[in-house]
Amino acid sequence: MYAEVLIEYKVKSLDRSFTYEIPEGLRNIIKVGMKVSVPFGQGDSLINGFVTNIKYDSNLGNLKSIVEVTDRELVLNEELMELGKYLRDTTLCTLISAYQTMLPSSLKIKTIKSNFQKVDTYLKLKMPKEFIKSYLEETKGKNQKEILEILLKEEKILKKDHSASTVKTLLTKGLIEEEKVPTYRIDKENAKDFSKVTLTEDQQNCYDEVMANLDVANTYLLHGVTGSGKTEVYMHLIEQVIKKGKCAIMLVPEITLSMQIVNNFYKRFGSDVAILHSALSQGEKYDEYLKIMRGDAHIIVGTRSAIFAPINRLGIIIIDEEQSESYKQDNTPRYNAIDIAKWRSEYHRIPLILGSATPTFETYARSLKGVYKLLTLPKRVNDAKLPVVKVVDMAEEAKKRNMVLSGYLKEQLKNRLELHEQSILLLNRRGFGTLVTCTSCGYTFKCPNCDITLTYHKSSNALRCHYCGYFLRKPENCPECKMHDIQDSGVGTERLEEQLHKLYPEARIVRMDADTTSKKGSHEKIIQDFKDEKYDILLGTQMISKGLDFPKVTLVGVVSADASLNIPDFRSGERTYALLSQVAGRAGRSGLESEVIIQTYNPDNFTIKMVEMGTFLKNYQYEMSIRKKLKYPPYYYLVGIKVCSKVYEDASIEATKVYNHIKGSISRESIILGPTTAGVFRINSVYRFQIVIKYRHDESLTKSLKEIDEMYIDHKTVYLEIDMNPYYI
Ligand code: ADP
Ligand code: ZN
Repeated sequence: MYAEVLIEYKVKSLDRSFTYEIPEGLRNIIKVGMKVSVPFGQGDSLINGFVTNIKYDSNLGNLKSIVEVTDRELVLNEELMELGKYLRDTTLCTLISAYQTMLPSSLKIKTIKSNFQKVDTYLKLKMPKEFIKSYLEETKGKNQKEILEILLKEEKILKKDHSASTVKTLLTKGLIEEEKVPTYRIDKENAKDFSKVTLTEDQQNCYDEVMANLDVANTYLLHGVTGSGKTEVYMHLIEQVIKKGKCAIMLVPEITLSMQIVNNFYKRFGSDVAILHSALSQGEKYDEYLKIMRGDAHIIVGTRSAIFAPINRLGIIIIDEEQSESYKQDNTPRYNAIDIAKWRSEYHRIPLILGSATPTFETYARSLKGVYKLLTLPKRVNDAKLPVVKVVDMAEEAKKRNMVLSGYLKEQLKNRLELHEQSILLLNRRGFGTLVTCTSCGYTFKCPNCDITLTYHKSSNALRCHYCGYFLRKPENCPECKMHDIQDSGVGTERLEEQLHKLYPEARIVRMDADTTSKKGSHEKIIQDFKDEKYDILLGTQMISKGLDFPKVTLVGVVSADASLNIPDFRSGERTYALLSQVAGRAGRSGLESEVIIQTYNPDNFTIKMVEMGTFLKNYQYEMSIRKKLKYPPYYYLVGIKVCSKVYEDASIEATKVYNHIKGSISRESIILGPTTAGVFRINSVYRFQIVIKYRHDESLTKSLKEIDEMYIDHKTVYLEIDMNPYYI
């Protein structure tokens, strides 16, 4: 017996199956879709691969044998084997990378102990702070000083983030000590809380419509305002699907932002829920996969890649916050989970539900045309009112020297503190100052690897690049003119926090951004503490805007709406509206009177006006008229091609070649633009030129794209990133 094996080899030209002999002992075991280990190439080193076919004859002589089965449980089923080909054809990836995406390659049974609990080791001071301070004055060790200085400010730090030898020295000297903390695992204990709510009339209508067609491949848009109870509709539907012995996949944008939903699912469905997302440890991930494969869990809640969950009896797919860009993978394969969901919905003949308060305009247009079925929840549950939105003109405020917080916002924050109600402030820039310059010579600190300025982070006294992570201790003097005049300007979350403390000394304030949530579990803790009213004000970047349900929040302030408006992208109007109404939707969820204050230098901007009026439809109609004129989605499809190289000339020359090749072969109706420099031209020392194609129907396009893709497979200095239907251009 022989098996054709698609090997895990990075070279695209080897993306095909090779024939191997199946040894006697494995003949009853090996199946199509299984992962096996085979000898390959010079020296016959072992490599993993997927069995794509099994046959009884082979006219090839002298074949090598399969060595072993890598995993007997995690096998790609027939559906997923097919789906892989769809992924290859629509995203232009290799078949092997499609299969690897569907079944993570790291899941090897031998190397992973199932059910282990991960423990993180933290460091904290062992001696009193005063002692440490005097030690710091004496010691010369620069690395030691660095760690101790951080520990004077922060209670705990993660051990593995710091130099092992320095840590050891400090431990031996008895200055610091270790603390082992089991990492956050989801609380499955109080599972199955049978208390169930009765659906409202609107919810019931949506539910009934889907229930009437459980065996049809319909796509629905569940368009419900924030707080309208979409989750409850999902759960009721899933319950019925499970009763029929089928399974459900429910996608959420980011697991940390969706813990409230996940916990609700645990409460309702208990251990029938499996969770799949990238922050799981290897062991946890393996546990969850096995639960699914063995049929112990019927509900899979997860992020993007959970759409590939290996389920045979799929009954429904739900994608919450469908407008979220997290559903699009931004490295190969560049797939969109919504497309995969549609494919699986057709395959199983089951409903797909896209839920959102602010769907993408592509989705909304389809639902108006009847391609998708539109379900609406126009009201909040329990007649809770949507918040009142007030726009503040910051140009006027600047005249009164209110640079960051307007007089009105300050007043309202004070008022909420007095009423013991909570407030949320959104500021989409982390760090302290956003621009660091020398006031003597005008020198500006930029990242050496990227075309972007560095951001000052006060807590670590460092300048950082938010693209590549480049890190520089803040120098005392200007590297150009050597003067002692370095200053930072602009406002990030760190500085805002400091200012709030000064303005409201009694207020309990917590900040949530990438810097305060880097530790596992810290995100959940901030959310829980805020919910438990341990804080009065939550400030943060857009991670505070999504999906959170805080009953006591009655004020939401958007410190600057302009950052989002000014992004030069055809979707920025759509996105700004979505972001602002998402964050606005955090207010007044339990029925208390609530207000949203939006600060901007563009009070007359159309999108801002629409947010003020709370009219999704008008914003949609306006933006659609522009898109029609400018030939953007949903009127046209897009392809984005990036021609990348560390060598500037190579990127530039090849970009023109790519352009000419495509131009010469595509339909006359299609439009090709470029090459231009990409938004941020250089990231991590790589120069990026961009070409954009707009098309409606173009038979020759895919062929042309495949050709240029092949042309650059083995190029020494240049690589291409081809993105079908990119989120950003
Ligand atoms: P959305 O996701 O649409 O913003 P949620 O699903 O978070 O809204 O629901 C908002 C709140 O309303 C939640 O606290 C939820 O428990 C509650 N809720 C939802 N449906 C009902 C119902 N039928 N009866 C009572 N409360 C409900
Ligand atoms: Zn950088």
